[in-house]
Amino acid sequence: MSPKDLPKTMRALVIAQFKADPPYELRDDLPVPQLGPKDVLLKIATAGYCHTEVMVTRGDFASKSRAGLPLIPSHEPTGTIVAFGQEAEAMASEVDGIGNDGPLKLGDRVGCLTFRDFCGKCDDCKAGQPKFCQDQDMVGVTADGACAEYMRADIRSCFRLPAKLSFDAAAPLCCAGATIYTAIKGCSLRAGQRLAIIGAGALGHLGVQMSKCLGLQTILLDARDPPLDMCRKLPYPPDVAYNSGSVDPKNPKQVSKLLEDIGGPVHAVIVATDVIPAFEVALAILRNHGLLMVVGQPENPIPVSYNDLIFRDITVKGSLLGDPALTKEMCDLVADRGIEVKTQAYPLEDVERMRADYAKPGHSGKMVLRVSDGA
Ligand SMILES: [Zn+2]
Ligand SMILES: [Zn+2]
Repeated sequence: MSPKDLPKTMRALVIAQFKADPPYELRDDLPVPQLGPKDVLLKIATAGYCHTEVMVTRGDFASKSRAGLPLIPSHEPTGTIVAFGQEAEAMASEVDGIGNDGPLKLGDRVGCLTFRDFCGKCDDCKAGQPKFCQDQDMVGVTADGACAEYMRADIRSCFRLPAKLSFDAAAPLCCAGATIYTAIKGCSLRAGQRLAIIGAGALGHLGVQMSKCLGLQTILLDARDPPLDMCRKLPYPPDVAYNSGSVDPKNPKQVSKLLEDIGGPVHAVIVATDVIPAFEVALAILRNHGLLMVVGQPENPIPVSYNDLIFRDITVKGSLLGDPALTKEMCDLVADRGIEVKTQAYPLEDVERMRADYAKPGHSGKMVLRVSDGA
């Protein structure tokens, strides 16, 4: 498709008002976005529905939004490049994440991280860490996202998708997959070392498979049996999948039983859930000198004592999403090794049915919305 063939208007879901019920309106009269110099226009194929969407509809990020309402949701965009901004084509050969396949070009199938219009001048941008830039928009969070036929994406956040990877499978990798892979890599473990992941949800089911593919002994903990059962049937199941829901992390006897059941303490734990007891269990199963990697975002402070930090030499770190290069590496790993991405796909107009299914306690895998076939 050449830019002159692009329509003027498009179909999209919008948040017209925060805290509305239902939260989204389907519109067909929205303008196709104009591109800035560093942008590409994506024809969206599949858009992922993330845990964060609820916070977006509540207006939790409203103070950071330069565009205001209406806002198009989804920060898990996949699609095809249909147009380049003025400088974007020249930048395509410089951006990270393109690997050895040559610069991104028209017609390429891509995924995209949420970061857009970062300043390029601050210390973090200069250090190649634009995800920490305070002067930027986040598509689907503070600026228009992927639940639309077309989306304006920052080419610096785009990465080519492997041909083997479907758009449905790729969408969750743009946030959930990138987040858990970056967290695993951030643990800096060697093959054979022991990693525990707490939370068998969207992030956890991807994380255990990636961890296994990286050669780590992998322990998965959750307080619910259905997602643990689901993870036992994955192509790369964890070495141990264990329901730790009834373990009191303050009870030494229960902790030693837990450690016995999971084969001993671990070198690192990634907490991919928001509940405080998960962090207490994490600290209880770490070896001395171990690493607590924080991905879940609990409302209350995480209870780490001086004893953990000083007398056990525990390190506590957080991990924020990822960058295009590492995300592309992860997408290649998923495609090459046949890591299973559990998804439930819905057409855009069925967003309410999707939300109802999302609210059911037994749902497993990631919800995605199909906007087009991406061609
Ligand atoms: Zn997300
Ligand atoms: Zn910056």
